Parts: sequence; C-alpha cells; structure tokens
Amino acid sequence: MTIKIEKKIKGYQVVKPEDKAAPAAAAPEKKAAEPRQAEIIQMHESVERPEALIGSTFKIKSPLFEHALYVTINDIVLNQGTPHEQRRPFEIFINSKNMDHFQWIVALTRILSAVFRKGGDVTFIVEELKAVFDPRGGYFKAGGVYMPSIVAEIGAVIEQHMKNIGLIHDPEMDEAQKKLIAEKRAAYEAGAAGKKASDGAAALKGESNASGFPPGATLCAKCNTQALVLMDGCQTCLNCGYSKCG
Ligand SMILES: [Zn+2]
Repeated sequence: MTIKIEKKIKGYQVVKPEDKAAPAAAAPEKKAAEPRQAEIIQMHESVERPEALIGSTFKIKSPLFEHALYVTINDIVLNQGTPHEQRRPFEIFINSKNMDHFQWIVALTRILSAVFRKGGDVTFIVEELKAVFDPRGGYFKAGGVYMPSIVAEIGAVIEQHMKNIGLIHDPEMDEAQKKLIAEKRAAYEAGAAGKKASDGAAALKGESNASGFPPGATLCAKCNTQALVLMDGCQTCLNCGYSKCG
C-alpha cells in the first residue's frame, strides 16, 4: 500500500505490534461510553423549570431592618438518579413586610436567579455579595460574626445554602491545624488567667464574649469573627488560625 505524504514530515515513530492491538481494544469501549456522556445535562439558559423544585428558606433578622427577611432558594436536580446527579440553585425569592426596600430586593433576586440559570460556576456571587459594605455601618449577628451589610448577609445565606447542597466545600481544617489553634487558645487563656491573678482580680474560668472567644478579642478580617487576640506581640485568630505573622 502506498500513501503519498503531502505535508512536511516533522517526526516519525515505528508502529509496534502492541500499538496495533491497543486502538482496536479501546475503540469499542469508547463507543459505548459516548452516548452516555452526551446525556449529562449541564445548567444552561434553556433548561426548563420543572413543575416542582426543592428549596430552603432562611430567615434574616438585622438591626438595620424593621422586619425580618425571608430568603427562599429553590434548586433544580440535574441528571437525577445517575452518577452525575447534581443539585443547583435555580431561583431565589426574598420576602419581607418591609416595603421600603422592595425595588432593590426585587432587582437583586431577578439578577441572582438569572445568574443561577446561566449555568457555569455561580459560586462567585457569594464573594461579590459578602463584600458589600453599608456606609451606615454593619452589625453583629448572634455568634459574633460581623455582617458589613444586609446584602452581605444575603450572600452569607446563599453561601450556607451552597454548602448544604454540596456546591461549596469548606476548606478542610486538618487535625494538626485544629490542634494548633486549641493549643494557642489554651496558652492565651493561661496567660490571661495569670495576668488577672497578678492584678489581684479573680480569674474567671471559661469567660468568653458572644462568639465564645476570650473577652476583648477583636474582629478577624479573614473569618469575620471576634476571635483575634494578641499573642506574643502577634495578632492571632483563635477561630480560623489566621496570624498576622504567618
Ligand atoms: Zn479568623
């Protein structure tokens, strides 16, 4: 058999007997896998809304708002019953008795729903919303987490929902890191107790602020929790382990 080579030869390789056998063996396997691949549905604009969606409702109570906000996120389940089953947010609604904020809330939910339906990675909206600051000042939630604005709290709710459905994964804190934070905390508390005793005041065991961290702890910029303490001249977070000195 003669084949005319019309292009410039850039390299060559001698065909070995096992090379001839390999493609033949691989080919039927690939053919069987292909049609199944094609059936995987990814989120895109024209995925039709099913009659029923599953969802969750979160309540937001902020001192900036007279009435609570109820955030409902409904999910679509793609490829149900297959190994590619995936739950994705499909639409969001925010309800409140408070009509002062009606127009921007409607605008925000429409845009968020549109982003959800576009497909692709939608987790970026969490960071976008959480970075919104209210110029009038934010507030602390129960648990000592600082919310810079009501929009940021909507972002936090979406983040929680995405964690619940497995779209966002918490960065796993390994055992060594947890141990290190526990040790740091014990060392800090021992130091604080010693200082109190020498000041002549009674050292209260288990004394803590609203977030469950030592009183006087300041806000950690990384995890937004009042857990930052000064240890050995270095700001250290007893919640996430962040340290200004690395
Ligand atoms: Zn922190």
